[in-house]
Amino acid sequence: MIIVHKYGGSSVATTEKILDIAKYLGKVKSENNDVVVVVSAMGKTTDNLIKLAYEITEDPDKREMDRLMSTGEQQTIALLSIALQSLGYDAISLTGRQAGIMTEGHHTKNRIKSIDGEKIKGYLKEGKIVIVAGFQGVDKLGDVATLGRGGSDTSAVALAAVLNAKCEIYTDVDGIYSIDPRVYPDAKKISHISYDEMMELAFLGAGVMESRAVELGKKYGVEIYVGKSLGEKNGTIITSKEKMMEEKVITGISVNENILMVNIENIPTYAKNVYAIFEQAVNLGINIDMISQNDVLSEHGSFAFACPKTEKTSLEKLSEILKEEFKDISVIINPYVVKVSLVGIGLISNTVVAARIFKVFAENNISFHQVAASEISIAIIVDEVMGKEAARLLAKEFNI
Ligand code: ASP
Ligand code: MG
Repeated sequence: MIIVHKYGGSSVATTEKILDIAKYLGKVKSENNDVVVVVSAMGKTTDNLIKLAYEITEDPDKREMDRLMSTGEQQTIALLSIALQSLGYDAISLTGRQAGIMTEGHHTKNRIKSIDGEKIKGYLKEGKIVIVAGFQGVDKLGDVATLGRGGSDTSAVALAAVLNAKCEIYTDVDGIYSIDPRVYPDAKKISHISYDEMMELAFLGAGVMESRAVELGKKYGVEIYVGKSLGEKNGTIITSKEKMMEEKVITGISVNENILMVNIENIPTYAKNVYAIFEQAVNLGINIDMISQNDVLSEHGSFAFACPKTEKTSLEKLSEILKEEFKDISVIINPYVVKVSLVGIGLISNTVVAARIFKVFAENNISFHQVAASEISIAIIVDEVMGKEAARLLAKEFNI
C-alpha cells in the first residue's frame, strides 16, 4: 500500500521536528508501506520570503514570486531527506517538477493539470522514501509555479489520487472540530465528515484544510485523514457521505468574521436595476454572497448582500458609481457583523432545524440581519457582538 503523508509548516518548523518526523516515517516504512511525503516550507518561511520581495517593491513580478516562494519547500525536502538518510533510511527528495506535477493558470495561483506518477513509483520500487515539495509544480513554459497559499494540501491529495494511495494530512491540530474550540471549549472532535460538509466549513472559515484539496479528494474518491503529527491516531476522516456512519443534522458551526453587509435602499425594484448592481460588482471583481431583495411589488425597495471585509475599497467604489446612476438611493455598508453558519448533510430534509435555530435566537434576544440556506448549510448574519454567543448557544442546542 502506498501512503502519502503531508506535513504542514508548523510540523516541520525546526530541524528537531524534522528529525522526529523522519524517525516516525522510518517506522511507517518498516511496517511494509511505500511512503511518499509532501512537505510545506518550515514555519513562517513563505511569509518571510514574501516580505523580502515587498521590501524591494510593492508590486513584485508574479513569475519571480513563484520562483522565490517555491524555495521554501525545497529547503524542507532536502532537510527531511538528509534526516532520513542520517537514520539509515533510503530517501530521495523531488521538486514538483521532478515529481511530474504539471500546472496551468496564473503564476502564484496555478492549478494542477496532471501528474505523471511513474517516476515516484520507480523510486518506491527501489525501496526509497520519496519526499515531494508541496505547493509547486511546473507550467508548460517550464517555469516553476505555485498553487496558492496553503497549496501543499492540494499537492498531497493530488498525488494520493494518482498513486492510488491513502492520504494523511498532519498538522498542529488533532483533527476537525465541530466548532472552533476557542469559541466553544466543549467543541467535539468530528470522527467522520463528508467532503461536502468539509468544503462548506473550510470555505466558511474553519480553515484547517484547504477546500481545493477536499474538492479534489471528492472528485477522485481519496479518503483524507487529518490529525496531529506524531500523535495518537485519533483525527478526522474526510470521506464520501455514503460512508458516513451516523447522520447528524448539524455537523459543524463556523463563525466568519471577514464579512460585511451592504444595504441598498430606496432603489426602484426593477430587474434591470438589480442587474446594474451586479454588473458593476462583477466589473469591480467584488465577490458577493447572500443576496436578498424585499417586496418587489412596491415601487422602491431595498436590496442587501454580504461580501468579504477585504472588499471594502471596491465596495466604496461601487457605492459611488451606483449613487451616480440612481440619485435617491442610499448605500449602507455595515462592517460590524459576522456570519454564523450551520453545516450538515441532514439539513435539507429537516425543517425542524430552522425552527430550532430561530427558537434559540428568540429566547436569547438575538436579532439577525439576513439568512441564506443551501442544501447543506444555513448562514445567518448577526451583529458582531453577538456572533460568538450565537454560535455557542447553537452548538449547545445541537449538541455538537
Ligand atoms: N508554504 C506554502 C504556504 O505557506 C504552502 C503550504 O503551506 O501549504 O502557503
Ligand atoms: Mg498549510
